[in-house]
Amino acid sequence: MPQNFTKSQLGGFYLSTSEWLKRFKSENPEKYRVFRDKVNQRRHERYRTEPEYRERMKKQVQSCRRKYHEKWREYSRAYRERMRQRAMETLGGTKCVYCGCDILDFLEINHKNPIGRRRNTSPTVRHGGVGFWSLIVHGKVDTANLEVACRVCNALHYLRHRYGETGHRVIWNARQNQGGA
Ligand SMILES: [Zn+2]
Repeated sequence: MPQNFTKSQLGGFYLSTSEWLKRFKSENPEKYRVFRDKVNQRRHERYRTEPEYRERMKKQVQSCRRKYHEKWREYSRAYRERMRQRAMETLGGTKCVYCGCDILDFLEINHKNPIGRRRNTSPTVRHGGVGFWSLIVHGKVDTANLEVACRVCNALHYLRHRYGETGHRVIWNARQNQGGA
């Protein structure tokens, strides 16, 4: 590419790859999607089959994470929160099934029948977290034993399961909380 021509002199004829891609994307969104999927498929394929490529990509991701540490943290926090919320919506809504509390920060996904530590369940399924939420969202885990409950009701649920009736009652005062918001 001649260096002494400016872009305007070339009448927009010369476009860098990323500019060309941007234009292609906006002008042919359908074609772009097919193209993007093909590229991604090829990348996944290479990642799976070429150890060298895999190592290179891992290093790239690592250095990128270091460079954009704060952004990365922010993004992954937002992603986790989104997945958690979506998992709860899949299970019937962001609301405690016992007391009706709907403050997202207080809610958890609960096993109706607690699964024992010794049960032969994969760590992802046992401990929760993004992996677990993603399985719920994508319908890859049996949700019959799962429910959304607030931490307070969850604690009581656990105590009742372990010791029987404890004499506690959980009352969530919705009006008070909504008034404060
Ligand atoms: Zn509750």
